[in-house]
Amino acid sequence: MAKMLVAGEELGSRTTLEVRNPATGELVDTIPAATKEEIHKAVESAEKAFAKWSVSNPEERIKIYKRAVELISGKRDELSQLLTREQGKTLKESSLEIDKFCSDLEYYAGLAKNIRGAYFYPVADGKHGWIIKQPVGVTVAVVPWNFPISLMGNKLAPALITGNTVIVKPASTTSLTAIKIVELFWKAGMPEGVLNIVTGPGQSVGEELILHPKVRRVSFTGQTETGKRIMSLAGPDLKRITLELGGSDPMIVCEDADLDKAASGASVGRFFNCGQACVAVKRVYVMDSAAEKFTEKLLEKLKKLKVGNGLNPDSRMGSMHTKAQLEKVEAQVADAKKRGAKVLTGGERLRGGEYDKGNFYPPTVVTHVSDESALVTEECFGPALPIFTVKSFDEAIEKANHSPYGLGGSIWTKDLSKAMKGASRLQAGYTWINSMPVVFDELPFGGLKQSGYGKEHGVEAMEYYLETRSVLVSAE
Ligand code: NAD
Repeated sequence: MAKMLVAGEELGSRTTLEVRNPATGELVDTIPAATKEEIHKAVESAEKAFAKWSVSNPEERIKIYKRAVELISGKRDELSQLLTREQGKTLKESSLEIDKFCSDLEYYAGLAKNIRGAYFYPVADGKHGWIIKQPVGVTVAVVPWNFPISLMGNKLAPALITGNTVIVKPASTTSLTAIKIVELFWKAGMPEGVLNIVTGPGQSVGEELILHPKVRRVSFTGQTETGKRIMSLAGPDLKRITLELGGSDPMIVCEDADLDKAASGASVGRFFNCGQACVAVKRVYVMDSAAEKFTEKLLEKLKKLKVGNGLNPDSRMGSMHTKAQLEKVEAQVADAKKRGAKVLTGGERLRGGEYDKGNFYPPTVVTHVSDESALVTEECFGPALPIFTVKSFDEAIEKANHSPYGLGGSIWTKDLSKAMKGASRLQAGYTWINSMPVVFDELPFGGLKQSGYGKEHGVEAMEYYLETRSVLVSAE
């Protein structure tokens, strides 16, 4: 059984949960479901450690980050294998995720000496003003299963570098690699209690953690419905929160776009990680005159996406993470078909041979989809893409914005003036122009509308882990 890492100790309660390989159904390992006592121990130890860590020298934090990067990169292959076995993604996707985690640490290590307040003089006659920045305190990082390592990095990298202490609560189905990474942080010299990981179901373990009065901040990534619940739990004590939630990102393809690049953007953008990405391309709006060519090129590219066990080096798309996810996408596609949609490729789960053991669904493209269909009204968290044809850029923007979500979106055109105007009209926290949805360390990321609020990445993310305080000094 894998163990939780709390207060410098390995902890494992008697109740365990199974972690199974989504591609084969095989048992990978078990994890503990934390008891109330174990959860409280984690919070108490994080609070105790905060007193020293919050005033520690940034040099010390930088050294630990650098050593952690060395240790994690040194085990890249082993960690990628484990991630693929618990999550279902391909080995290439797993190793990219480990790399992303490391680059996140390096980015924030580089900013550690730039956490500045300000000074103001005179505020009034003889009066000096200081604006100081201080860490918030004990932070809970609640992480989903789709990118369990890079999304954990988005939280703990800015939180720890600014002097907060952290308790990670990974998804129950993807806790194993996260535990190994926290262990490597400990080996890198992280002082006792500063970084802890507890495992178990969100509704019990997650809620107990969030409700603990000594927790001052919660960083959450997951479904919009869970985000609303977390907001209500954090509300009574006015705990600081960031919510990175669901999305239904539109992609607009204009007649003058480079259709080959746009088709690649749709192929990678929708089907990377088996379509299980918050910023995946989830709806395409292509101009009438470009639709046929664009769709042809996309279908051609999808032929190369060999679906199979992520551990097989030939696989280009792995298994969906759970049977429930697979069934949800199946239901969404069935609903679209019932409302008149035409399936151009895929549309049925894969069966026979190795496919019978896992949750395999092929890349799927549908057209003639009703705006009322679940593929449009709900988030589609799997490898199915509806393509809509539109008559004008205005119509595309209007339809793109017709969604409760506002996470990301992309515009493909050679007319940069049109693209810039479109970017300001698109209701999205992140707009990609002539680019597939790739997230960079330097640019703040976070949704509008029901995709949440608060930012991860960039210097902006550090602000969410700092309190800004003022001090007035009278020199008279
Ligand atoms: P989820 O909301 O079911 O679970 C996410 C995490 O929250 C897990 O660790 C889970 O155990 C925990 N949790 C569940 N209920 C809880 C509760 N009541 N209290 C405390 N913790 C609780 O989400 P998921 O299905 O794992 O993830 C997929 C969703 O995440 C999709 O909607 C996707 O769009 C979204 N997502 C968003 C971003 C982003 O940055 N905006 C990134 C990745 C995924």
